[in-house]
Amino acid sequence: MKFCPNCASPVTLTVPPADNRPRYVCPACSAIHYQNPRIVTGTVCTWGERILLCRRAIEPRYGHWTLPAGFMEIGETVGAGAIRETIEEAGARIELQDLYSMIDVVHAEQVHVFYRARMLGPELDPGPESLEARLFDEQDIPWDELAFKTVISTLRWFVADRREGHFGLHTDSIVHQPKAGKLSPRS
Ligand SMILES: [Zn+2]
Repeated sequence: MKFCPNCASPVTLTVPPADNRPRYVCPACSAIHYQNPRIVTGTVCTWGERILLCRRAIEPRYGHWTLPAGFMEIGETVGAGAIRETIEEAGARIELQDLYSMIDVVHAEQVHVFYRARMLGPELDPGPESLEARLFDEQDIPWDELAFKTVISTLRWFVADRREGHFGLHTDSIVHQPKAGKLSPRS
């Protein structure tokens, strides 16, 4: 953040009184602009034994396969966001099942959440964010062309759980070193 969303003055990165970490603070209007992780919500959708994947038509990871997922919007629940993203990216009609995985992606400032879901019909109609949407048999999953670590982990858990006949809730954290200086105060 460079400018205050309230008054457009340049902000400074500083630790506010009674706080313990740097925040973007506006010297002109005194607003403190807190930044918090964003939720990415999506689905592991099946039609029979086959699993729904979308090939990304947008960066990052253009052309790679992914589970349908995207940023949660203000005013919706995590589950409603998962359904919406699945409709937008794959055009699939689905019924949400249980929460399936939750993965902290600390360096990306995101939390990725996936639900299991059941397709209500085989029809797909990929939206502008997908090059294609396709149902994959397990042996055809393009493991080397998947877009994100959270998608790989979730799909690995899913195929393993399905073989065992029991789906649990899976959690994980991906932690990379922050970029040098990114979180250090400028003044
Ligand atoms: Zn301001």
